[in-house]
Amino acid sequence: MTPPDFLIVGAGIYGITTALELHEQGHSVAILNPDQIPHPLAASTDVSKVVRMEYGSDVEYMAMVDEAIDGWHAWNDQFNDTLYHEVGVILAVRQPMDSGANTWEWESYQNLQKRGHKPERLYPEALADRYPVFDHHNYVDGFYNPRAGFAESGRVVATLTDHARQLGIAVHEGQTAEELVQEDGKVIAVKTREGETFAAGHVIICAGAHTPYLVSDLQPFMRVTGHPVFHINPGNPQAFTPPNFAVFTADVSKSGWYGFPLHPREKIIKIANHGPGLQLHPEHDERVVTDVDEARFRAFLAETFPSLRHDPIVYTRRCLYIDTLDGHFWIDQHPEIGNLTIGSGGSGHGFKMGPVLGRLIATAAEGGSQRWSERFRWRHLSEDTTLEEEARFVESD
Ligand SMILES: Cc1cc2nc3c(=O)[nH]c(=O)nc-3n(C[C@H](O)[C@H](O)[C@H](O)COP(=O)(O)OP(=O)(O)OC[C@H]3O[C@@H](n4cnc5c(N)ncnc54)[C@H](O)[C@@H]3O)c2cc1C
Repeated sequence: MTPPDFLIVGAGIYGITTALELHEQGHSVAILNPDQIPHPLAASTDVSKVVRMEYGSDVEYMAMVDEAIDGWHAWNDQFNDTLYHEVGVILAVRQPMDSGANTWEWESYQNLQKRGHKPERLYPEALADRYPVFDHHNYVDGFYNPRAGFAESGRVVATLTDHARQLGIAVHEGQTAEELVQEDGKVIAVKTREGETFAAGHVIICAGAHTPYLVSDLQPFMRVTGHPVFHINPGNPQAFTPPNFAVFTADVSKSGWYGFPLHPREKIIKIANHGPGLQLHPEHDERVVTDVDEARFRAFLAETFPSLRHDPIVYTRRCLYIDTLDGHFWIDQHPEIGNLTIGSGGSGHGFKMGPVLGRLIATAAEGGSQRWSERFRWRHLSEDTTLEEEARFVESD
């Protein structure tokens, strides 16, 4: 059998969108993943992921999401399914937005307007009227952007994978890449833990948190961190159902807390923390939410959504980010090893880019570049590099 032009290792959102894009461009493509797709431990496998344009002063990411949102609508139409729910996003803050204390929110607000969008300022009365679930003594300002929402991420990956199969892309479940076989400095095949060997013209590693373990040159530039996720069963679900509520961030750059309205299928409220997380090994370390995490979560609820503070937590998960040291994606060919491309480095904010990711990674694998390629190129980051994604809560020393 003729080897495929491209073999993709990992069928999360980075891998499956790349497979579809390369197929669209006329290449033969295969993709492999352990166990099943969507994989239960993959970062992409979840009930919901935020889709927001708000990136503070970073207008490039804002532009990327603006384009991605058109893609989310196109997928909803293409698959005749609401995979992306455009319920809007509430950015709530504890000090006046223009007081200098909330640069991420304030700069996002300014940049949205510069791009022609119409975010609605939520002064204290408006916040209290429209979203009474917030504690209005603690949250005094913010804005609502209707061009935002959440994607049902696990269902997105399942839908795209089914579509890939229908198009004739070879989808190999139950295959765990273990070794990149090289000849004359080029990758020619992948050996799996299950004893198979998959030859290919070019290999693309989209293995999420496992990426630096398959390509060890990346270990100085990437870290795997685990982040707590909570599902609450609300006593008053109507109050958290759109339009009474939406995706929210609660002083996120200073607290890490963000979450979702009542889930249309699961009937729970998901809240998580976009903070430093715990450094973990993807295979050796336990992924559990601790009592300390839960106590912090309850304290957050008491200060932010008093009506939820005693409601039952029905599920918890510690989910893994593949962090680059600067927090930007890693999409480029390997500088020394031929026929090898990396598509990873989501750093806790990659899923929303789904509709534009495949083209970015496919372009890199073909040796080309496009509008946003430069910042994701292979780069040498020193150990003291700090995260630059402005919504991310980073504890100060
Ligand atoms: C708690 C949490 C909340 C998040 N919230 C958001 C959000 O609200 N908005 C947002 O935009 N982003 C969010 N993110 C980030 C987003 O989920 C990730 O950036 C994105 O899903 C990463 O996709 P991926 O395809 O790189 O990795 P993954 O989804 O992890 O996929 C990697 C795939 O590779 C497979 N794999 C691993 N090892 C091997 C191997 N050896 N051989 C073959 N296959 C392998 C895995 O099984 C998996 O299927 C969040 C992440 C977490 C953890």
